[in-house]
Amino acid sequence: MKRRSLILSTGNPNKVEEIKNILRNLPIDVISKDKIGFKGFEVEEDGNTLEENAIKKAQSLVGKVDGIIMADDTGLFVDHLNGEPGINSARYSGANATSEKNIIKLLNKLEDVPMEKRTATFKTVIALITEKGNIITVTGECKGYIGFELRGNSGFGYDPLFIVEGYNKTFAELGDIKNKISHRAKALDKLKVEVMNILKDDVYENSSDK
Ligand code: IMP
Repeated sequence: MKRRSLILSTGNPNKVEEIKNILRNLPIDVISKDKIGFKGFEVEEDGNTLEENAIKKAQSLVGKVDGIIMADDTGLFVDHLNGEPGINSARYSGANATSEKNIIKLLNKLEDVPMEKRTATFKTVIALITEKGNIITVTGECKGYIGFELRGNSGFGYDPLFIVEGYNKTFAELGDIKNKISHRAKALDKLKVEVMNILKDDVYENSSDK
């Protein structure tokens, strides 16, 4: 039986390592698109939802690579701002957005908003497309609050602002604990179950690759 591959539409080394680690006991080779000649191959994230963007990213590799394809999209949804920055989390402060500029914009928009109204949710959607073309999505969420100032040194993006419900600490203060409780960790746990199910289905059963 041919060994299966999971092709990741991300080149982000942190994400690649996280996914390799969570799937380490499964009989599947986890390969970043960058390693197979698709470095810099990006699609416009112009969907209306994280689901649409994740599926679009995965679909962009269909027919170009051999294996199960995986893509993810994440956003921070702030209730008081009707879900902003949401699907625009990476580009919140405009064309030359950086995490610092995004954070400043978010803090300014929430100026004078009291803590109880600063509720927010991080959401990650992962899309899988099997060799047969079946599309599967899984979602992970983490609830919390947007702080009044930056706290902590670990993580990235909005981490120093996001106070995790039940912990009273930001993701940036939680260090490695983040990787066990985050939106992405929850989505990755579900991804593992889906990948195990896909692997039970031998796509090469009736082909000459057997
Ligand atoms: P992406 O879809 O993973 O590229 O995430 C979109 C944007 O959301 C990133 O540019 C980050 O600013 C932010 N983001 C995603 N995941 C996290 C996280 O775990 N912590 C903080 N910010 C994040």
